[in-house]
Amino acid sequence: MAKDYTLSKSSYIKGLQCEKQLYFYKHNYDLKDSVSEMQLAIFKKGTDTGILAQSLFPDGIDASASSHFKYKEGIEKTSKLMLNQNQTIYEAAFVYDEILVIADIVVKSGNTINVYEVKSGTSVTNVIINDAAIQYHVISNAGYKINDFSIIYINRNYIRDGELDIDSLFKIKSVKQKIKSLQKNIYKNINHFNEILSQSEAPQIGIGSHCTNPYQCSFIGTCWKDVPVYSIFNIAGLSQEKKFDLYNKGITELKNIPGDYPLTPLQWLQVNSELRNEKVIKQKEIKSFLAKLKYPLYFLDFESFQPAVPIFDKSKPYQQIPFQFSLHIKESEDSQLKHYEFLAEPATDPRTKLADALIPLIGNSGSIVVYNKVYEVSILNKIATDFPEYAEDLANILSKIVDLMEPFEKRYYYSPDLKGSYSIKYVLPSLVPELSYAGLAIKEGGEASLFYEQLLHEEDYRKIESVKEALLRYCELDTLAMVKIVERLREISNEFHN
Ligand code: SF4
Repeated sequence: MAKDYTLSKSSYIKGLQCEKQLYFYKHNYDLKDSVSEMQLAIFKKGTDTGILAQSLFPDGIDASASSHFKYKEGIEKTSKLMLNQNQTIYEAAFVYDEILVIADIVVKSGNTINVYEVKSGTSVTNVIINDAAIQYHVISNAGYKINDFSIIYINRNYIRDGELDIDSLFKIKSVKQKIKSLQKNIYKNINHFNEILSQSEAPQIGIGSHCTNPYQCSFIGTCWKDVPVYSIFNIAGLSQEKKFDLYNKGITELKNIPGDYPLTPLQWLQVNSELRNEKVIKQKEIKSFLAKLKYPLYFLDFESFQPAVPIFDKSKPYQQIPFQFSLHIKESEDSQLKHYEFLAEPATDPRTKLADALIPLIGNSGSIVVYNKVYEVSILNKIATDFPEYAEDLANILSKIVDLMEPFEKRYYYSPDLKGSYSIKYVLPSLVPELSYAGLAIKEGGEASLFYEQLLHEEDYRKIESVKEALLRYCELDTLAMVKIVERLREISNEFHN
């Protein structure tokens, strides 16, 4: 990267997470993993929150540089604005000892400043404190007197009621005392990082839990390249501690796990199935699971999104807002399969409309089949809490829910091609290979949320229609997949096995 400052607050934070990550970031940026649409959407949420929080301190002047690489523009703009007696500055850039930091909001009153760092999360974590500490170090050493340093973050308990109430949406917490106590370590860390950066090779640091904590590192593609695609890291339910214990013993492949290694019976089932290339089929357990399913069978799936800033009344930050369902109904074993679907118009509160569309389709008897019931149950419970007039009808739906994930999670059926997963995205191709998500424009729930959220700001009619169609086809396949999986489980439970 063409930068002539040594560190920034983000590279400092990278260094705290892993010194090799810092080295790659500064010297081998080309090794960086590509950024997914999902990650970009998360970054955008952070930026949007930052802009919204500026309205807590109105009439500020934005000191942003015209591009990421012209950071000196930002420093010059900030220095000029700091000459004013009273001034609010957004994106204020400061440099000290070749370290660049950009503070989200700086409010100058006379000779002192209050600094505010905006975060889109709902708590003040250690990483945020470290981020604030390096900013404090740079800004105070650059000659500015910091009266207070605070974090602005989202109040998870805020419930929207009418116009957005910015003062209630955000919480402001002073961290000055905490970050002052960290100042003695900052020089030490900076010197250490500079020493690492001056070396001709990246530090020898192995992979570990630090690769994903506190953030997913951007160089996993490089450091993890020798870990097989299917490895001990895919053993379901195995703790990080045991995964890295095996890895540090030189074991990455399932076949090399010592026979006396303390895995649970289900973990051994996964390993042995792989080694013997054998399916595990527990017919008695599958039969008793299928006996829980009573006709009519309703196969139900929701899609939802989680806006950081609540868009609708009676909703909180990051609340799951269901906007779509697909429902396949099989009245009896021999009846025709019927399909119903609902997709809310973007920008309208979908929750009561979804409940109005769903409730009349569900009778008083039968089973409602979902995949991973924790999700559907929490969606229905939340609608019932926010709109009590629906509580009784939704309780009827809730009482009939059966989780189709159970036979796979409990390994009544396991096949080597599941690779430790019990997600429907693995189970479907294993059991019903003729049905696939491959040809769809939307292939997983995260994408569905992202696409729907983007529709809220979309004006191109053709784009809106094509996204709506893609959402409908994706959700339909989720419930059709469940229909076919149940059919296949019935066949399997009746097949002859040695
Ligand atoms: S992948 Fe892990 S070891 Fe490699 S640079 Fe990132 S955090 Fe460090």
